[in-house]
Amino acid sequence: MGWFKRDNNSAKVNVDALFLGPKSENQGFFTNTLNFLMEEHIQWRRDFHPDDKPAVSLEEQDEQLYKDTLRRTKETLLELSGKLKTTSMPWFSPRYLGHMNSDTLMAANLAYMATILYNPNNCAFEASPATTGLEIQAGKQLCTMLGFDANKGWGHITSGGHVANYEAFWVARNLKSFPMAVKAVLPNLVKGLDDWQLLNLPVSKVLDLVDKVKAANKFDEVRALSARGVGMSKENLGVLLVPQSRHYSWAKAADILGIGTDNLINVQVKDNYRMDVNVLKATIDKFIATKTPILGVVAVVGTTEEGAVDEVHEIAKLRDEYEKQGISFYFHIDGAYGGYARAIFLDENDKFMDMHKMKHRWHEEGIIHKDIDWPPIDVYEAYKAFSEADSITVDPHKMGYVPYAAGAVVMKDRRILDLISYFAAYVFEKGNDPMLLGSYILEGSKAGATAAAVWASHEVIPLNITGYGRIIGRSITGAQRFYMSLKAEPAFEVNGKKYIVHPLTKPDFNIVDFAFNAVGNTDLAKMDDLNEKLYELSSYNSGPVYANDWITSKTSLATDAYGDAPASFVAVLGIPKEQWDKQKSVYVLRSCVLSPWLIKNTTYNEYWGTFLKIMQEKIGKIVKG
Ligand SMILES: *Cc1c(COP(=O)(O)O)cnc(C)c1O
Repeated sequence: MGWFKRDNNSAKVNVDALFLGPKSENQGFFTNTLNFLMEEHIQWRRDFHPDDKPAVSLEEQDEQLYKDTLRRTKETLLELSGKLKTTSMPWFSPRYLGHMNSDTLMAANLAYMATILYNPNNCAFEASPATTGLEIQAGKQLCTMLGFDANKGWGHITSGGHVANYEAFWVARNLKSFPMAVKAVLPNLVKGLDDWQLLNLPVSKVLDLVDKVKAANKFDEVRALSARGVGMSKENLGVLLVPQSRHYSWAKAADILGIGTDNLINVQVKDNYRMDVNVLKATIDKFIATKTPILGVVAVVGTTEEGAVDEVHEIAKLRDEYEKQGISFYFHIDGAYGGYARAIFLDENDKFMDMHKMKHRWHEEGIIHKDIDWPPIDVYEAYKAFSEADSITVDPHKMGYVPYAAGAVVMKDRRILDLISYFAAYVFEKGNDPMLLGSYILEGSKAGATAAAVWASHEVIPLNITGYGRIIGRSITGAQRFYMSLKAEPAFEVNGKKYIVHPLTKPDFNIVDFAFNAVGNTDLAKMDDLNEKLYELSSYNSGPVYANDWITSKTSLATDAYGDAPASFVAVLGIPKEQWDKQKSVYVLRSCVLSPWLIKNTTYNEYWGTFLKIMQEKIGKIVKG
């Protein structure tokens, strides 16, 4: 139990008090607390055997070389500070709407800086008696937020979404291959099941089998014959199905885990950039017709380029239908980006709210403005169905507003961990938490400071409507208004020439992609050229960003990744279909609106007016050449 009661119904956070702020508005609190925490550490050292003699005497500190060395350190740090100030990205500012970055939480930054001086290593409890516990607790908090039972599930912090994804499929791969290994060692346990049935056992049935194998004292022997010991091939484990919109970490995962990139099958997305569930079904049918097992299916919640939310509920339904026909696959949600947004759907008791009541509360409590039409029903249902997945990736260093490097993976059934553990197996049998994290995770030595930062953020800001929901609400309100403004903008003039701007699609979440075109231009390459130059003028490409008025990111949507999904967007901008068919890609500006400040100090009309004025100036520069 901590110091505070987290289930206090009236506990709400004020979002403005959570960040240092674009103008360092909270600098007084920040510096005082930082100094206090540094002092605490300094005193802690002195208080450890107070009568021990100092290692360095005052006389030694008077020596010239000693002073020179301190000066050298200081000069280096001044140089570093100069470099950081000259070229760093101003993520705290609403003028930055590019990658998945924003201001980060004071609680996280202060916790991180305080902890770093103690330098805990969460690989082993022995090296991190304070922070291993915080990591386990943060994992449980994430389990609850994502719809898993924290007492049965398992979650921990990774360096990011990449490693979280690797870990999920490391587990899935070993799990899928387990029943065949059982057949080799303990055929009686799987009597009456043919190979195809063994390759299609539902996850919970495989885990029950793990329990039986342990009871027969054959676990190590069987596990050595799973993919962990003997590797995998398409023939034995099959294919991994992902949406075309997947993050590139999935290609790396297929490579590293021996699944093979050939066996990573991209499923087409619809023109809203969500995986087409009908195509998914047809793809599964095609593979089972050739007796190729489906190792797993990945749904992305918050695609990296468009913020699209795959229809998790439909995929879960599909899996249930297939299980009735004897076909099963591991189901993972890549919520690296969108996972934290589940907080806005949960009431103070962490219950998923009814849509009507939820919206009423959002509007009443100013969490999402009532002029914002969000979420679409499929997005609501997708978040609701998270608990149907076997595991979920979620990044505290994205929508958790925690500094790098903080990702996380959570799994529904912690029994699954023994399939990847390398030491002290069965720890969970005693109901304990593992003390040697390094044995259960992909990474080894890692900063306990990260765990402290994630834990502190979760303690200050409950993972539901009272806490994170309020930050997420600001982000979504900002993004949807940005989208609405782009959509409503009539043609505008620059140097006597008319231009239009158009958003790619109504965002499922908080990423707004858009492109400009000159009115009358029907040449896709020319339109791309305009947007590419706009990007260059809105990024580090045009010099130090501190002099830039507005900074963004970009992406290119091409047919090899997206099929014809962008065709309708290109058409709205006045580009004929033949151009799209010929070029097969379109360049867009991409704004991830994590900023909690877009709705503050300035109404969105003001923000929009400023934004448009800046873009007109930039277009003016391009046209002049
Ligand atoms: C960012 C992202 C990742 C990778 O996460 P890192 O934290 O950069 O390792 C994976 N999947 C999705 C959908 C992402 O948005």
